[in-house]
Amino acid sequence: MDQGRVNPSMKLEQQGISGLGQVYYNLLEPDLVKAAVQRGEGELGQGGTVLVNTGKFTGRSPKDKHVVATPGVEPHIWWDNNRRMEPEAFDRLYADMLAHMKGRDFFVQDLFGGADPAYRLDVRMVTELAWHGLFIRHLLRRPTSAEVDAFVPEFTIINVPSFRADPERHGCRSDTVIALNFEKKLILIGGTEYAGENKKSVFTLLNYILPEMGVMAMHCSANHAIDDPEDSAIFFGLSGTGKTTLSSDPARVLVGDDEHGWSDNGIFNFEGGCYAKTINLSAVAEPEIYATTKNFATVIENMVYDPETKELDFTDAKYTENMRCAYPLEQISNASSTGLAGAPKNVIMLTCDAYGVLPPIARLTPAQAMYHFLSGFTSKTPGTERGVVEPEPTFSTCFGAPFMPRRPEVYGKLLQEKIGQYGATCWLVNTGWTGGSYGTGKRMPIKATRALLTAALDGSLNDVAFRKDPNFGFEVPVAVPGVDDALLDPRQTWADAAAYDAKAAQLVAMFSKNFEKYLPFIDEDVKAAAIG
Ligand code: ATP
Ligand code: MN
Repeated sequence: MDQGRVNPSMKLEQQGISGLGQVYYNLLEPDLVKAAVQRGEGELGQGGTVLVNTGKFTGRSPKDKHVVATPGVEPHIWWDNNRRMEPEAFDRLYADMLAHMKGRDFFVQDLFGGADPAYRLDVRMVTELAWHGLFIRHLLRRPTSAEVDAFVPEFTIINVPSFRADPERHGCRSDTVIALNFEKKLILIGGTEYAGENKKSVFTLLNYILPEMGVMAMHCSANHAIDDPEDSAIFFGLSGTGKTTLSSDPARVLVGDDEHGWSDNGIFNFEGGCYAKTINLSAVAEPEIYATTKNFATVIENMVYDPETKELDFTDAKYTENMRCAYPLEQISNASSTGLAGAPKNVIMLTCDAYGVLPPIARLTPAQAMYHFLSGFTSKTPGTERGVVEPEPTFSTCFGAPFMPRRPEVYGKLLQEKIGQYGATCWLVNTGWTGGSYGTGKRMPIKATRALLTAALDGSLNDVAFRKDPNFGFEVPVAVPGVDDALLDPRQTWADAAAYDAKAAQLVAMFSKNFEKYLPFIDEDVKAAAIG
């Protein structure tokens, strides 16, 4: 017998999925926690958290993600960036996955992607793991019970970690597969337990669907001023640049930490929860996020803990540097209940420059903003691996190339239009290194970054004196109250100014080389903002 609550005319059988073991529909948090623990998927942690380990995959598998090349979708996909799967291969994959699912238990969660009812997507998540059900319930937006009773899924995502794909038969790369079929409105995930695949699949889907409706889809966090949802800000940035950390600001209302849309109604969170990194999480610098690691139903992934007390070790990266916790937005005391805000007054582009070349904050013209948006620069910092001393610079367009099914110009043009239409002020913020490159300098203090952002967002930074950066052409404030002046000019923070100039020249050259491929597609003003 099936358990739980579901629209009686929309059970899995009605979708052609049958022969399963027990199906648990729309269980709420307590029952999902209980199921995860009883089934041995994880352990109960302090405060009623769920402690899980994802095994082989502790991060996403971007190389195993495929878009199905159905005729209606094919012409719109940026194939240089997305792996192709033929429709016939997908059909075989689906048939084989359904056969594998027979007799096994599944958890179904009917949820919304998108806080704005005008653009939201009704997503059904079918997961083999109870804790994946809990994870996605935290991360997406939760319908009321009345909405569950009438729920009709527009898209269905099936995640079966125990399934192994066959590259020959299924046209994929390995036995791990993420296959997005936009035309069949079906996403299949197999061979990985990393929960982030679930949420980023929904994100990729919205990134495909929304631009056609004139809505900009963005890999960014967002917050707004207390008592004024019209005074909002968005923070673009690749992984590890500080979207989650900096958007959770006790002095602002959190809208969301990772994925948003920008329509004529304003901005809206795609999600209803956060997925925060916990490595070296500080109770002092990030009190709000820290508190969630002891709250009921928070999912804690790949952390080392005391086997008896279940006390978490925030420093031990034994399983991965990418250890995380997932929790609903309500766990953050000053989170927005609607997930909606006005068009951003400030657009911030976060970068973690491990070279220590970029200033902690710079003001960008709209054309420069477009240049940095299309460039999508950050550095992957060397881990604890011995012998790795050089940071790895990466350019990931739109600050999220792995999630962009369409060509970068599609997103670039939409953002340019919106920034122009609403007159947003744009900033580039370096949360990476200062006082030298990785190895010599140190990471920018979170306190300094926060002080600069506060000044940018409350408007006071617009009134200070600026200098023009000789390498990148953007404007850099000369002095900001509460921030050490020396920090603002990275060249001054280096012991050896000539070494700084050499590193800066190297970075400028990397930007120029990377940008060449966009030159044929962009407007003259952005070309002029392109350096080199
Ligand atoms: P993802 O897309 O993977 O979720 P993210 O952009 O949300 O990444 P965060 O999870 O906020 O990134 O990670 C930023 C990390 O860098 C955190 O571990 C934070 O403690 C650390 N950090 C150190 N200094 C700073 C700084 N000045 N600003 C922001 N984060 C900093
Ligand atoms: Mn994040």
